[in-house]
Amino acid sequence: MNLYNFITYLEYLDKKLAEFFDNQQEYICCQKGCAKCCQHGNYPFSKIEFEYLMLGFKKLDKNTQELIRNKIINLNEEKITSSEKYFMYECPFLIDNECSVYKHRGIICRTFGLMYYREDGNTKIPFCAFQGLNYSKVADEEKKIISEEKYIASGYIQEPLAFNVSYKFLTNKEHEIGYGIQFGECKSLIEWLIEEFHIR
Ligand code: SF4
Ligand code: SF4
Repeated sequence: MNLYNFITYLEYLDKKLAEFFDNQQEYICCQKGCAKCCQHGNYPFSKIEFEYLMLGFKKLDKNTQELIRNKIINLNEEKITSSEKYFMYECPFLIDNECSVYKHRGIICRTFGLMYYREDGNTKIPFCAFQGLNYSKVADEEKKIISEEKYIASGYIQEPLAFNVSYKFLTNKEHEIGYGIQFGECKSLIEWLIEEFHIR
């Protein structure tokens, strides 16, 4: 039941996000083959999201599964020797710059590329704005905010908008109650994978 409700929630979320991306289409450069957002991250996943992701993994052919498993083994070694507080890594499901488990990807993955409100109310611009991608023509690199001056000069019709799509918000109690879901424990994707594949 939990997984069934979660899938219903994902359908709702995908619809909402599609509206937001559509609204901001002038600023969005996302396209097949662009995968910078999957190449350097920490990727928080709740238990239910991870279970759903693993269903996607099981649908992959044996060679692809083996490839992903080897990537996880290598990442585990990198993680052990890393001194970073939040280990940042390329997602092992990224193959040839495409997500191999696209339908089963996490909530955070679905929001990549949009501007969102943080808990403190400030706006977070996607990191790729500073790599010439989404919102780059209206972003102030130094202040990490949208520049009103650049927006006015840009000639864009739609205002650059942030949405309430922080990971914390999308996995909060309100959504759990509303959709009858228990998201469960949340940790970085690599930690789930190390546990799942019994890698130590
Ligand atoms: S699960 Fe897919 S979309 Fe999410 S970070 Fe990994 S490769 Fe990217
Ligand atoms: S969010 Fe940025 S890095 Fe990711 S696909 Fe879109 S444009 Fe590329």
